[in-house]
Amino acid sequence: MSIHSNLAQIINQDPVFGQISFDDHEQVVFCNDKDTGLKAIISIHNTVLGPALGGTRMWNYDNEWSALNDALRLSRGMTFKSAITGLNLGGGKAVIIGDAKTQKTPELMRRFGEFVHSLSGKYITAEDVGMTTADMDTVREVTPYVTGISEEKGGAGNPSPITAYGVFMGMKAAAKFKYGSDELEDKVIYVEGIGNVGETLVEYLTQEGAKVFIADINRERLEQVSSKYGAHVYNGSDLYSEPMDIYAPCALGATINNTTINKLQASIIAGAANNQLADENVHGMLLQQRGIVYAPDFLINAGGIINVFAELEGYDRNEIMRKTENIYTTTIEILNRAQENNLTTHVAALQIAKARIDARRQENR
Ligand code: NAD
Repeated sequence: MSIHSNLAQIINQDPVFGQISFDDHEQVVFCNDKDTGLKAIISIHNTVLGPALGGTRMWNYDNEWSALNDALRLSRGMTFKSAITGLNLGGGKAVIIGDAKTQKTPELMRRFGEFVHSLSGKYITAEDVGMTTADMDTVREVTPYVTGISEEKGGAGNPSPITAYGVFMGMKAAAKFKYGSDELEDKVIYVEGIGNVGETLVEYLTQEGAKVFIADINRERLEQVSSKYGAHVYNGSDLYSEPMDIYAPCALGATINNTTINKLQASIIAGAANNQLADENVHGMLLQQRGIVYAPDFLINAGGIINVFAELEGYDRNEIMRKTENIYTTTIEILNRAQENNLTTHVAALQIAKARIDARRQENR
């Protein structure tokens, strides 16, 4: 193929506006710094409700298209997460291309912070995969447009335990809807991924008397968490086929997909992972047809964003917990709305989030 036809093919891909994950995003910023090796993409999906807040993910992407699509998809998710949670925030996300273990330096983080600063507060960052509270403290040295900083530096600290509490609330609401009671005692619950969020969720669930099974690729963690809370380690090879009441995906996204959906034995899905449905429409519909209650991920994993929002608004811990507890009520509302209108729970949640954005757009006119 000639250089010209190659170029024509690339140009025909419509680099940004034609991407599969593009959904009327407002702004996409490509950040490059030769000295520190920084290559980052900041994606601002929507700022109707407020500044676009969302974490920065550092990941060794296979290629730049994957990085761009991740930024586009994740920033869109943040718009709806904040909208459904009632926060005056828009949706944004940043990705840094690279290996967080070997390529992340304070200089790179400061340079990234300068790019965030150049947007004058339209985008506010926080931590995501590959980032720590300490990294956000470094970003804070060059810009105030960062949350998720340490408590010593005036931040709200690690958001994961709050996220876990919100997931627990969402799960209890789904149980109330499905079983008529939100008691989780004796329910068989599989928690897949027992990292920062998963571990605290296991703590809540075991305290409640649920029969908790845990799965993780990290063997050491499995043993730690199992001995700490008395959870059962899952040693099988196909978790999705196991008889269970509740499946809690707390590792990666897209675990509800063409391969797993027909095997799933659970009557409820409620977990922390972002983008649990490989295809929102197809898999949302299949879950509905199978009578499996799916508590939408972006609704019940919003504890973390509530926690970082608190830094901007100056809420105390009680207010953070009260707002996170409210996920219970919102989940019940969404599940009822989906049932009454014959919608998937994902679509029901999305409709509410979009309605809030549209109403604000009208007010702002
Ligand atoms: P984490 O990195 O601390 O934990 C993830 C865990 O999943 C790790 O223990 C890892 O070993 C395990 N894991 C990875 N691949 C796996 C696999 N194939 N099977 C089983 N286990 C696997 O992450 P976290 O902060 O606990 O977040 C968990 C999920 O929740 C992520 O999808 C994240 O995007 C989402 N989330 C987190 C927050 C938060 O506040 N931390 C907020 C919203 C959403």
